[in-house]
Order: sequence, then structure tokens, then C-alpha cells
Amino acid sequence: MVNIFREIEKKRNQLIHLAGKKSFEETTAVSEYILARFALVSDGVEAADVDALGYLEMLYFRVVEDRKIIPELRSLMHILRKMEEDLIYSVEMFGKRAEYVLDFLEADTLRQATEKSRNEREEQVLGRILRMRMQYFSEEPAEKKKTGKLRPVEIKAGLDEYVIGQEDAKIAISTAVYGHLKRVENPGKRFAPDVVLLIGPSGCGKTEIMRRIRDITDYPMIFTDVSNLGASQYRGRHKEDILLELYEEAGKKKAAAERGIIFMDEFDKLLLPAISERGVNIHDDVQSQLLTMLEGSEVELKYDGQPLLLDTSHMFFVLAGAFQGLEEYIRADKKEKSRNPGGIGFFSTLDKEMDLDFVRRNINHEVLMKYGMKRELAGRISYIAVLNKLSLEDMLRILTEPKDNLISRYERELQISCDAELIFTEGALRAVANEAMKTSIGARALQSILGKIMRPILFHAPDRKGLRRVIIHEETVLYGAEPMYEIAEDAKIVRQSTLLQAGGSDSEL
Ligand code: ADP
Repeated sequence: MVNIFREIEKKRNQLIHLAGKKSFEETTAVSEYILARFALVSDGVEAADVDALGYLEMLYFRVVEDRKIIPELRSLMHILRKMEEDLIYSVEMFGKRAEYVLDFLEADTLRQATEKSRNEREEQVLGRILRMRMQYFSEEPAEKKKTGKLRPVEIKAGLDEYVIGQEDAKIAISTAVYGHLKRVENPGKRFAPDVVLLIGPSGCGKTEIMRRIRDITDYPMIFTDVSNLGASQYRGRHKEDILLELYEEAGKKKAAAERGIIFMDEFDKLLLPAISERGVNIHDDVQSQLLTMLEGSEVELKYDGQPLLLDTSHMFFVLAGAFQGLEEYIRADKKEKSRNPGGIGFFSTLDKEMDLDFVRRNINHEVLMKYGMKRELAGRISYIAVLNKLSLEDMLRILTEPKDNLISRYERELQISCDAELIFTEGALRAVANEAMKTSIGARALQSILGKIMRPILFHAPDRKGLRRVIIHEETVLYGAEPMYEIAEDAKIVRQSTLLQAGGSDSEL
């Protein structure tokens, strides 16, 4: 990191030399700004990372160069193409942290681009840029704190800012993360890693909880879908690949990787038998592979042809899945115990919504084993948290309450693209939440429903001169009716007509 700074400093001095004293002030200001921005993104970038260094130099030159070019001489297409290039490149290079660099590069340019009238090709590029920005940077990067200073209640409070409900899971994870820290503080001692199981329907917040933990902790964390792991004697993805991924995420630092957190999604899929052509249950082998990690062991790996030994005993594992049909296994288990086995059509009820309260009250390691988990693996799970299916009220809260919620992201987007305000009426929000309730993908649906509504608005809004506000009513959500566009000059009139038209729950306008 220090080297990169030094390189940038060197470049700055060269520029000052070239440009003469006149531009000294400007180049100083620019480089200081870049240094400050870079300090934020460079965390984790290796000093020897030649690509990153090259990229920063490029940024540096671009900023200095761009200032020299008279804006009118640059074609809009040229600006947009450069922006798109930057976006793709910096996302590859820095992931989410790229936002700091891009904010700096794009703020003015994006504004210019959205103010100019555009042809269809330019419109397409701009659309792609806006979509990419939404996709990659829609969340504000939370300030990372040293987890060491956080107590479980504080970790939970951090989660509360983003995750609605799911108290049991939030408490379980906050406590486990705190415990993880304590283990890490005692590297000399051998432990078995902490393993928490999260059971809950799709899109209820299992991954979201861990995404937030990643934001507030210093541990490297990876999210991995384990349903596609293969048996060890065959080609494919194995436990070694998961550990190598963590190693990379930890900046190829062994000690950091050994303190890492691994989120294994779709874990339930490994509990159902998967029979190979030779009649072998592949998932038996996959569970055994994972068991060696979850028990805490030294796993031999190869990275770049070099041997690498990773000890998993200080890691923290979170297993997650929907565990469809689990309720029936519990009921069957109960029946068996009351000497009335059989007669249960497990799969006949798979599509039925699970009674999660019932599952929460009755879940135990025995049931997990009946579901297909190996005894030793079940024995490794220290806590089982059952999450709730989100209610309509939860969906409504998710739309507007969490920090950097979906609605505020679109508000920001409209603000950036045409300096206008976005208003969703209460009725519209309720309709969006209602639509999401009808799907099987939980809160994940909110994003696609809103995207469908907002896409045409974000596309056309910049063409409406003097646009002040866009008001979205229930009818826009339900029937695709035009939203209300409030224009500066006749704002009062349009606003009044809104008042007249709006009734019932929308009347707060
Ligand atoms: P899953 O439970 O399948 O892992 P996610 O946690 O990834 O699903 O949820 C999908 C998206 O829905 C998240 O990115 C988040 O925006 C939203 N979401 C889901 N549940 C909640 C919740 N309880 N609170 C806030 N947002 C949520």
C-alpha cells in the first residue's frame, strides 16, 4: 500500500514539473483527494499488486487529463464509454470498495450526461451504467469496526439497522461472532469451530444477516453454494475449493484465512441422497468432506502449485437452507415415538408452507439426522435458529426502514439522474409488499417488482424538463398506470390534482 502511495506521489511530482507552477495548486488538490479516496479502497490491496497500481495511475492521469479537456469538446458517447469501462474495471479490481473511486470520477460526469439530450445509443450505455451502479453499489458500505470492541448486543444492534425481525437468528449469530473473536484471541488453543445452522424459507434474511456481519467485522468471509459440491474421487468442486476461495478472500494471508467465516448456502440439498451412475450416494462423501472442515483439522491444499496448509479449527461456519418438508419429518418422528409409524407422505406436503413455529419448537439433532444429516455432522452444530417467513408488515418495513433501503436507493437514483424527488404513496408501498407476498422468493421479490416499476421512470424522467417530483400510486404498481410527474412551473397545479385524485390511504399527500 505504501508503495502505491509513493508511486502516486512520484507521478504527481512529475506532473507538477511538466505543467509548471501554474497548475501546482490543482494537482496537489487532485492528488490529495485521490490519496484520501484510495486510502479507503486500498485496504486489502497488496502493495505488490501491479494491476491495482496501474489502475490508480490511470485514474490519476484521467482525472488530471479530464480537467484539461474542455467539456464541450468531448462527445457524450466518449464520456459514457469511459465511465462504463471504469465501472467494469474497477468493480473487477476492488469489488464494492470501487464505489469510492467511482464516486469521485463520475459525480460530475454523470450529472453532465444526464443533463444533455441523448441519442438512442447513448441512452443504452447510460442505462447500462445506471443498472450496474444499482447492482454493485446500491448499499452504503458500512464503516468497519474492530469486532474485538463489539459485544454481542452491539453486533446485534448493527444487524438491527439492516435486518427486520428474525430476532432468534440475529441473537444466535451475534453471540457466535463474539465467541469467534474469543477463539481467535487464543490461537494457541485448539478448538472445534463454531457451527450455526439457519433454517428459513427463501428470501427471509439468512444471507442478509451474514452480509451485514461481513460489513461490521474484520474477518474474511465467503458465501458459497454447497449444493454443487462433488464426491472427492470425481472432478468438480470440493471442500478444498471452498478453502482456497476463503484464502483468496483473505488476501492470500494464511493467518487471516484461518480466522475466516464460511457461509454455506443450500446446505439442506446435501442431506437428500444424490445417487451416482455407479449407485453411490455422492452426498455421503460430500458430507464427510465437510465434516473434516467442521471438526477442525489441517487441510492440505495447493495454491499456484505451492502446498498450503489451512487449519480450520478457528473458523466459523454458518450453514443455511430452507429444509423443505422438515415439518413432516418432525411429525413422523413424533408418530414413531408414539408407536404409530408409517403413513406419512413426506413429499406430498413439500409444497405446503411450513409451520415454522412448530419446527422451531421441535427441531433437534435427531430430526436433522432423520432428514439425512450424518450423525457426526449433526453433532457439530452448536445452535439451530429457525427464521420466520416474512409477513406483509415485515415486507413493508423492509421497503423503507433498513439503512439504505430499497426505496431510498431509488430516491437517490432519481436524484442523481435528474435532481427530482421520488414519492411512493402508502398505498403503492402496500401494493408492492402484497405482490412480493404472492411469490415464493420472499423479500428478494421486492427488488424485482420495484425494478419493473422504476425502469421506465428512470429511463424517461431525464427527458422531462423541470421535473420536480415523481409520485407513484397504487395504480402504477397494480396496473402499470403512469406515475404522477410534477413539473417545476406548474408544481402547484399538479400537486393539487394529485390531492384531488388521491384518496384513502394516499391522502397524506
Ligand atoms: P435468503 O434467506 O434466501 O438467504 P436473503 O437474505 O439473501 O435471502 O434475502 C434476499 C434479499 O431480501 C436481501 O438482499 C434483502 O435485501 C432482503 N431481505 C430478506 N429478508 C430480510 C429481512 N429480514 N430484513 C431486511 N431485508 C431482508
